[in-house]
Amino acid sequence: MIPLPVMDSHRPPVRVMALHALAYCARLFYLEEVEEIRVANAQVFAGRQLHAALEADEDAESVSLDLTGETIGLIGKVDCLRRRDGSFLPYEHKRGRPARDPNNVAEPWPADRLQIIAYSVLLEDVFGEPIPEGRVRYHAENVTVRVPIDAQARADLQAAIAMAHQLRQSVDRPPITENARLCEKCSLAPVCLPEEVRHDREPERDPVRLFPPDRDGATLHVLGQGTYIGVRGDSILVKPRDEPESKHPTQDLDTILMHGFNQITTQAIRKCVEQGVGVHWLSVSGHHTASLVPTAGQVQRRIRQYQALTDEDTCLRLTQQLVTAKVEAQYRYLMRASRGDEEARSEIQTSLNSLQPLLSQIAQGTSRETLRGLEGASAVHYFAALRKLLGPQVPETLHSAIRTRRPPLDRFNALLGYGYGLLHTAVTRAILASGLEPALGFFHTPRSAAYPLVLDLMELFRVPLWDMPMIGSLNRGQWDPQEDFEVTRAKVWLSEPGRRKAIGLFEGRLQESWKHPVLNYSLSYARTIELEARLLEKEWTGEPGLFAQSRLR
Ligand code: SF4
Repeated sequence: MIPLPVMDSHRPPVRVMALHALAYCARLFYLEEVEEIRVANAQVFAGRQLHAALEADEDAESVSLDLTGETIGLIGKVDCLRRRDGSFLPYEHKRGRPARDPNNVAEPWPADRLQIIAYSVLLEDVFGEPIPEGRVRYHAENVTVRVPIDAQARADLQAAIAMAHQLRQSVDRPPITENARLCEKCSLAPVCLPEEVRHDREPERDPVRLFPPDRDGATLHVLGQGTYIGVRGDSILVKPRDEPESKHPTQDLDTILMHGFNQITTQAIRKCVEQGVGVHWLSVSGHHTASLVPTAGQVQRRIRQYQALTDEDTCLRLTQQLVTAKVEAQYRYLMRASRGDEEARSEIQTSLNSLQPLLSQIAQGTSRETLRGLEGASAVHYFAALRKLLGPQVPETLHSAIRTRRPPLDRFNALLGYGYGLLHTAVTRAILASGLEPALGFFHTPRSAAYPLVLDLMELFRVPLWDMPMIGSLNRGQWDPQEDFEVTRAKVWLSEPGRRKAIGLFEGRLQESWKHPVLNYSLSYARTIELEARLLEKEWTGEPGLFAQSRLR
């Protein structure tokens, strides 16, 4: 009755739902089961609601039976089980419509067919009784489709289980499905980026927009020294020392950023981990200190990253793409900011003249060391010009003569450094969310204080996410040299009102939408960071060519 392999401890059982994913798309199976990336989209939520409603309906004979088939090596939860003519009859409920054969007769979709076959054989394994048939009910048309558990069904199941075990052993992601329509309903499209790959293969093809334009949840910034963060029900409770407390439902949150010396309870940390809310700590001066994000199932992704970023040719290629993108962004911004203003253009013309030949040299760079040198030279010319973009209306104390980092020695550099700190945390979030190892980069060398891969990816965003809004804000007179800064003999940094202002400016920029010039769709800058992190990973997963291609217009 069950001529299938015996389970062993090195081959943990396969979930029946995973076989459903496998029949839908091998890559979906791999992302969910091997890389453990699970995203619930509207369809997934609607399916869960249907099952919850069935469980609440006694007439539906629902059982929600958790089963483990030791012999067959499957585990799963059967929705609904009935007795017909002395045999068990398993049902699977689906929200949508059935497939249709050429004669317009309803039939199950391949993934649904495999799923009910797997449940039937799993039940045979557990109860030791033959099951001749399973059924799939499609609620959108009130149609029930019968699936015979015959020799063909058993052979198909056996092949699927074998394929599942084979994929589990692999470190290579299967390619995207050839059937683009499947991707439109796939919950993992924002991670998989199938349309972006198709667009790269056929540039004239307009990609279907599957990557979300905005962030899913809000970022909660906790400032004010001594603020207490705890839990009340399903909400995060924030109790500042001198202000009223506030509650923030975890379902609305994406991230909590703790600035300076605040206290968060173990219960709040646990709630954040359970709900997938990342917690990140920053120093008072805006430097990233630590991050806490759930990090299951990243082994394959890390292995691929280690293999790729220990290969000199790959690192050189990525460095060239990155440095070109960065210096082009600097050049284009300087051109744009001085367009139509002859005086401003003549002020920065020397820098522009120096940057242009550097771009050609970067294109011909043959080692990472050379490219690092060219990038450093570009930075000197760029910052010399950036300071000159401040208009005469900006108070003299907000101008700067020289770039200083740690510690910043004037207000301009304090503002620049604080914004880069916020950017560092935003990029760290995106890299961790993408399952990449932040400590292994390709351009920056390992240092104790900062993650090289974060510093690498930041290079794409310094100009659009902080330099541009910061210079714009200074020129609009939004900064008070006294109120917004704390000045000592040794350093200058932002006061609490200044930090609040900088966070507001940065968060506003993250939410701004722009049109990706290569992929041709609009998305927020916050999503752009995540997109670039995922496109970077594609550089070593067989789908290269899209990382660091977007440019300021
Ligand atoms: S988005 Fe498409 S290619 Fe990617 S996992 Fe889903 S169905 Fe497969």
